[in-house]
Amino acid sequence: MPCLGMPCPTAFVWSGDYELYNFGPWHPYKPYLWRLAMEELTLVHTRHYIMFVKRKCEDGYGFLDYGDTPAAPGVYEGAVSRVGGTLTAARLVMEGRYIHAFNLGGGLHHARPSSASGFCVFNDIAVAVRYLQRWHGVKRVAVIDVDGHHADGTQDIFYSEREVLTISFHRYGIYPGTGWHDEVGVGDGEGYSVNVPLTPPLTEASYLYAFREIVPPLIRSYKPEIVFLQYGADSHRDDPLVGLPLSTHGYQEIASIVHGLAHEASGGKLVVTGGGGYNPDNVRRIWAIGFITVSGVAVSEEELRSLHDEAHDPGKVDKPVVELVEKIKRLVFPYHGIDV
Ligand SMILES: [Zn+2]
Ligand SMILES: [Zn+2]
Repeated sequence: MPCLGMPCPTAFVWSGDYELYNFGPWHPYKPYLWRLAMEELTLVHTRHYIMFVKRKCEDGYGFLDYGDTPAAPGVYEGAVSRVGGTLTAARLVMEGRYIHAFNLGGGLHHARPSSASGFCVFNDIAVAVRYLQRWHGVKRVAVIDVDGHHADGTQDIFYSEREVLTISFHRYGIYPGTGWHDEVGVGDGEGYSVNVPLTPPLTEASYLYAFREIVPPLIRSYKPEIVFLQYGADSHRDDPLVGLPLSTHGYQEIASIVHGLAHEASGGKLVVTGGGGYNPDNVRRIWAIGFITVSGVAVSEEELRSLHDEAHDPGKVDKPVVELVEKIKRLVFPYHGIDV
């Protein structure tokens, strides 16, 4: 199923502009990503907000939100180029030039149409989805988000639409405070926002149980034309901000499941973005493992071992998680004609 045992042609999208916090405007990658992103930003964000971000970052002081997201010089250009990266990834996949694409600079899932939030200025995945709807006539997109924080910005943007199925796994009770399991969408979008709010302590086996029970049936039933995976690394057990139980092995399993589902339901079309992650060594290892898993690129056993956690004990599935999963199934599966 995954590319018939062969490596899958996978684009790795990156721009030095992501580091514009330090670099100058002369950087050679800038014009292309910049132009593409500028034309499409308004598909999600208001002109007023875009101009606000630009002006504030030119001033170079203060915040873009209520205190999490500083208006430093270069942030505007950096944020636009990250949107350009996800747009490029989506376009490469949709046009069939690559089966999968990674933009580890993307996944800024807290940004809303007219406000920044939680280190996120522009919502790159939402812009890419609107771009695909508008220019490629895409009718069904799935966005799976395993960042440790709720994908509130992405959810809000598509909350009343069934053309976009959003599924967010996150720790409940930390920033941004939303993402309870009864948030399922409104109107036409009822049943198309899915939330899996997890509360520690829980085992890695519990997390993966919930993922396997909920994601595959929904993706098989929904049959998205393209799948986005927001692969934030802050659900790792050693992340200093979140407190979820995933190891690098769990992250590998998630990448593997989503990769298989993309081939099964979406002709392989899969875009992976980064997201949060506040332990740099974990982030490096998790994203490398994700790329290796999805692309099928050959690495030696030894190389792969060096990327993994030493210990891997997923534990047993916790009863409260089994109950939560049953509740979510009862709430959401009927909208998709799936037996509970
Ligand atoms: Zn593949
Ligand atoms: Zn996060």
